Amino acid sequence: MSNRITITRRIVQTVCFVLLLYGAFIWPAHLETGLPRIPGGAPRTTLYEKGRILWVSGKESVVDLYIPALACRFVARGGLLKSCIVHFFSENFTWRTSFRLMLPHILALTIMCVLLGRLWCGWVCPMGAMMDAMTWLRRLTGRGRLQVGEDQQRFLFNTRHLLLWGSLAVSVLIAFPVFGQGVNDSLFLIYCQFCPARLLYPPFGGVNPCWSDTTNTISSFLTGVGWAMFALFFLGFAIPRFWCRICAIGALVGYFNRGALLTIEKEPGKCSSCGTCRRNCPVDVTRVYSDRRAGVVTDPECQLCLTCLEDCPEPGALELRLLGRRIVRS
Ligand code: SF4
Ligand code: SF4
Ligand code: SF4
Repeated sequence: MSNRITITRRIVQTVCFVLLLYGAFIWPAHLETGLPRIPGGAPRTTLYEKGRILWVSGKESVVDLYIPALACRFVARGGLLKSCIVHFFSENFTWRTSFRLMLPHILALTIMCVLLGRLWCGWVCPMGAMMDAMTWLRRLTGRGRLQVGEDQQRFLFNTRHLLLWGSLAVSVLIAFPVFGQGVNDSLFLIYCQFCPARLLYPPFGGVNPCWSDTTNTISSFLTGVGWAMFALFFLGFAIPRFWCRICAIGALVGYFNRGALLTIEKEPGKCSSCGTCRRNCPVDVTRVYSDRRAGVVTDPECQLCLTCLEDCPEPGALELRLLGRRIVRS
């Protein structure tokens, strides 16, 4: 197959990158209205926002103000979409938003994930696009990639699930006066405080990121962790999609991947076991290669980038299907 899929994906990624980061300039209704700023213009995550975040909990339907999406709160000057799902749950758990108000968002998100699995990761996420750009740059310099061993994969897998569930647990805990107000405030949106997006996204909107929050020991520590995560993001030059291997959003969406209606399916009789799919997968999924049963081979790690399908030399060995209908095949 030609590289039609890759070209299409790059176009979609570019369009999504522009829409997600600059959508508010196209649809001014989405411009940030209430997002607070510290003097100097940097959006901050912790104390500064407490009580002033984008809506007053319990008063409005969440879905009115957040188009269900996996975009990011650090997109300065109003990207089209306001919140990643980790942010969404963290914030609402802390505000103790009623389940009734969260339900529309949860339903929309569930429908999106059940329908499309991790298509977001492979085709839409701006951080994913940035990592793909790093891989492209590395190839341009003629350098090889670093391999991630099975033990390291397992470690990264456990790390991202720990980050996901640990962050959500903290968000629930600080909804109650367990630690005291100062500590609670410092732990608000804990995942956002160390997500690389904190430093990555604001410059795209011409805004200075919050490089340092030294409000107290906890904030200083989380700033340090944020810097470490930011550095890890650039490991993407050596290891394709490195941050995706730690990302809590990917961990959450990955739960839907196996049951999603968009599937990669395999016809083992047509597979020559050449190993191309295993070698070329950016996130080292082995299932497409190793699964010898006919049918769905979508792995929770798979980001539906379709590189395996595009590179597979055997016609019809791999197919992308939606609700059982073939969309494209190798
Ligand atoms: S795993 Fe995270 S960073 Fe990677 S593409 Fe998905 S949402 Fe984006
Ligand atoms: S298994 Fe295939 S579609 Fe999934 S991430 Fe790997 S190369 Fe992309
Ligand atoms: S690239 Fe295609 S033929 Fe080669 S091992 Fe994978 S599915 Fe089989």
